[in-house]
Amino acid sequence: MARHHVVVIGSGFGGLFATQALRRDDVEVTLIAKTTHHLFQPLLYQVATGILSEGEIAPATREVLARQRNAEVLLGEVVDIDLTAKSVTSRILDQETVTAYDSLVVAAGAGQSYFGNDHFATFAPGMKSIDDALELRGRIFGAFELAELATTPEEVARALTFVVVGAGPTGVEMAGQIAELSRRTLRRDFRRIDPTEARIILLDAMSAVLPSFGSELGGKARARLEQMGVEVRLGARVTDVDATGLQVSDATGSHRIEALTKVWAAGVQASPLTATLAAQTGAGLDRAGRIEVRPDLTLPGHPEVFVVGDMASLNGYPGVAQVAIQGGRYAAARIRERLATADSPDSSGSPDSPGGDAENASRATAYQPFVYRDKGSMATISRFSAVASIGRIRLTGFIAWIAWLAVHLVYIIGFKHRVTTLLHWAVSFLGRGRAERTVTVQQIFARNALRDLGDDYTPWLGETPAR
Ligand SMILES: Cc1cc2nc3c(=O)[nH]c(=O)nc-3n(C[C@H](O)[C@H](O)[C@H](O)COP(=O)(O)OP(=O)(O)OC[C@H]3O[C@@H](n4cnc5c(N)ncnc54)[C@H](O)[C@@H]3O)c2cc1C
Repeated sequence: MARHHVVVIGSGFGGLFATQALRRDDVEVTLIAKTTHHLFQPLLYQVATGILSEGEIAPATREVLARQRNAEVLLGEVVDIDLTAKSVTSRILDQETVTAYDSLVVAAGAGQSYFGNDHFATFAPGMKSIDDALELRGRIFGAFELAELATTPEEVARALTFVVVGAGPTGVEMAGQIAELSRRTLRRDFRRIDPTEARIILLDAMSAVLPSFGSELGGKARARLEQMGVEVRLGARVTDVDATGLQVSDATGSHRIEALTKVWAAGVQASPLTATLAAQTGAGLDRAGRIEVRPDLTLPGHPEVFVVGDMASLNGYPGVAQVAIQGGRYAAARIRERLATADSPDSSGSPDSPGGDAENASRATAYQPFVYRDKGSMATISRFSAVASIGRIRLTGFIAWIAWLAVHLVYIIGFKHRVTTLLHWAVSFLGRGRAERTVTVQQIFARNALRDLGDDYTPWLGETPAR
């Protein structure tokens, strides 16, 4: 008899940890993802600011799972899930693949949300993928090059103004790192401009920095950023973004900020696959597009389908790595339990359809519901400075930074990636350097967004990109 087939969508935290948790089980696992790597998103900002290489935070999924004999990896973007036929359709280039499943774990994560203003993305890339991080690396280092070439003080000021939208952990980390770049790393590298004069503005429509960390830690993070020269503007809503600046509305009115480099670190939107699943199950979607799951992370009427991580809405759990990791492991444990129950002599179900839907639905409620164990959260502000909230413990400064360093090192996948990451951190944090400042011409011109800027904006190599 064919082994129970588990299909996992996504190679992020939820998908990878679910797959690995099934390594000793008598199942076949097929992991389908639209990228060939497992991305450690919390360190994307370090790729964008030249500290780490993309390979260090994005090991090949195939390599990570090479020794797991019951797992295979398929490259493809999932475009459809048919819950009745129990199949997943994925596409890559012109090739379409249909994969049948017995159990399904959907962990396709979330993308950036521009709150209905998707055209902002052209001028203010988000921070969700390796492509985003490399794009931002090109724009950030490129802005200093443009400033060096500028012929008027206004052009220099515009090129040396960096606006980060969103004062959550990603925005704080980006703003802090751009400040360190300008004040430490690039300090002596230019002849016509003074990089330390760069303006870094951190904007948020809300009234707090790091609101999820509470007012004490948020206040300390803000103070540290301001000490580093970052302008923090709260209660400021971005109303428009273009190639050379952005329009901001706050209590005093509407203002324009001239800035070549804009980084969007505000808002997430769950994978559109949640809409496909909602249409077939009647499950609701929340404002961020996350699908409302049952307490055991399954969908109504489909105990064989789990939705985990950033796509799932349950008990107000936050969109963080630990929720996805624990959700992935939980789904694996439930699949294991179901198979064990189906295999037991008093079971009327078969391994392929253990117990039938109705029976499974009642069984599912008997399972322990998914409960997220909060292990705390942390954000770095600069080298040697971070904030951390672990249970009732609040840490700031160097101790928090050491805790941050240790935790992130543990979760980076693979020994060799840990070693090279440590070396790069030594280069950047003990010294002044950034080992990964390279930007290729292809990276700069590849994006339609840059091509479409046309005559209004001269790309920083002075060439007109091919159309
Ligand atoms: C910049 C940044 C910084 C962050 N910092 C922190 C932090 O410090 N601490 C923390 O706890 N959390 C942090 N997070 C949040 C954390 O990374 C997410 O909560 C976590 O990655 C969610 O895991 P997931 O498995 O749900 O989704 P993801 O990790 O996003 O994985 C989704 C996977 O699905 C794949 N995929 C998407 N759509 C499809 C499709 N249609 N077909 C096939 N594959 C698809 C993707 O390629 C990817 O492999 C950060 C996130 C970002 C973006």
